[in-house]
Amino acid sequence: MRIARIESPMKRVLISVLASLLLAGAAAAGDTIVLKSGRRISATHVVEEGDRVYYDTPAGRLSLRRDLVEKIERGSSAWTPEGRDDLSVAPPRSDPAEGYDDIVAATVRNGSIDRGYIAKLEMEAAAGGAPAGRRVAVAHHAAAQFELRRGSTEQAINHYRRALTYAPEHVGILLSVAYMHLNRSEYTPALEYLERARRSEPQNADVAKLLGWALYGLNRIEQAVQEWKRALRLRPDADVEQALAKALRDEEAESEFREGETRHFNLRYHGGATPQLAREILRALEQHFSAIEGELRYTPPEPIGVILYTEQAFANITRVPGWVNAVNDGRIRVPVQGLTSVTRDLSQTLQHELVHSFIHQKTNGRAPVWLHEGVAQYVEGMRAGGQAHILVSAYDQKVSLPLGLMEAQFLNLPGEVAGYAYVWSLGVVEYIVAANGMGDIERLLDRIRAESSTEAAVRSTLRMDYAQLEAEAVRYLRRTYLQ
Ligand SMILES: [Zn+2]
Repeated sequence: MRIARIESPMKRVLISVLASLLLAGAAAAGDTIVLKSGRRISATHVVEEGDRVYYDTPAGRLSLRRDLVEKIERGSSAWTPEGRDDLSVAPPRSDPAEGYDDIVAATVRNGSIDRGYIAKLEMEAAAGGAPAGRRVAVAHHAAAQFELRRGSTEQAINHYRRALTYAPEHVGILLSVAYMHLNRSEYTPALEYLERARRSEPQNADVAKLLGWALYGLNRIEQAVQEWKRALRLRPDADVEQALAKALRDEEAESEFREGETRHFNLRYHGGATPQLAREILRALEQHFSAIEGELRYTPPEPIGVILYTEQAFANITRVPGWVNAVNDGRIRVPVQGLTSVTRDLSQTLQHELVHSFIHQKTNGRAPVWLHEGVAQYVEGMRAGGQAHILVSAYDQKVSLPLGLMEAQFLNLPGEVAGYAYVWSLGVVEYIVAANGMGDIERLLDRIRAESSTEAAVRSTLRMDYAQLEAEAVRYLRRTYLQ
């Protein structure tokens, strides 16, 4: 998310707000308003009064008609990348291990995987016969589930790949590995496995359900709708009903949109934006894409969806506060009303949001907000210099926001503090790059994908914990801008 302009709050006011915030522990979880449309809004101080629901955002106090609200979840607002509302779909029902309890028990024993046992089964399978192949597949499935419980997705996927060399058409295995890819937003490989499963069992409801998810992730909404309708014909399923309703809303909201496509982008825009502007935007996006690709040494495997809105439609659909001038909730959503060409500001907005897409795909959606926003601002060319004095005095007066509290959405912070949080994130990232170059950011993102927490990834990449990183960032800011 990029803010229209970072407020430069009066230092004295900011410091006192920060102090009271830390005292109250108010940077912790806020509430979530769940709308009947399925949309979720993070907010603080949510109050129901008469036929309206009032809530605070950094843009001030807003309200909604109460009949639009499904429910309010108190203290529930957790970080989802820029308010991304992912589909929550239960795992497929078919269990590849069903009826093979003995193999499962022999594969995972005394808290580890018996590789000798798997090797023995593999030899039997190599000697021939589909039943032997099936037994190996079950053993690898048991091993994969064991790795998953230990948090090692990579190892689990490897077991499934191996299983498929012995039982290439095993629908249970194909569904399991596809499900893991879907959870990591890796839609293209998921789609390949699911198409194989479809050839084996055309009437399998789980295959249709997960195919819909993969297609939705790839922004092929119409096809996703077809698959989910098919899944419901095969078997009633509450998950699918919800997903289908959401896809139909998207389809309707976007039905008047035109499309443009390039190698890395899938652009949709309302008739109001000229085709000429859409083409220019795609060209700008492709340029930014190669620049960021070089900088982060990473190429997102999935195409990136971009939607252009007239300003009014943007506010209605994204429901974000007025200070937000673009959103990335899995797709980049940008208002373009009144524009006829790509201005410098629009170009920077596109670049900023694109960085979020890269980081999201590179870390499987696990990067904390401070790093997301710090890197996005850094890459678009912003520096903390002009506001270094605020960051340093907040730190000296022991009221600076700890990075641990900036892992979740800034939308929950009071207005002045949200602006401060953006600059502070930028200052920390600027320090990391100044100390060791962009390579450290790249390695940090890779570690976040693998480690249990961001702070653990910071420790293994930068050899310091959050408190030391904050101290070093302030030292850097003082030395660079205030002396
Ligand atoms: Zn942002």
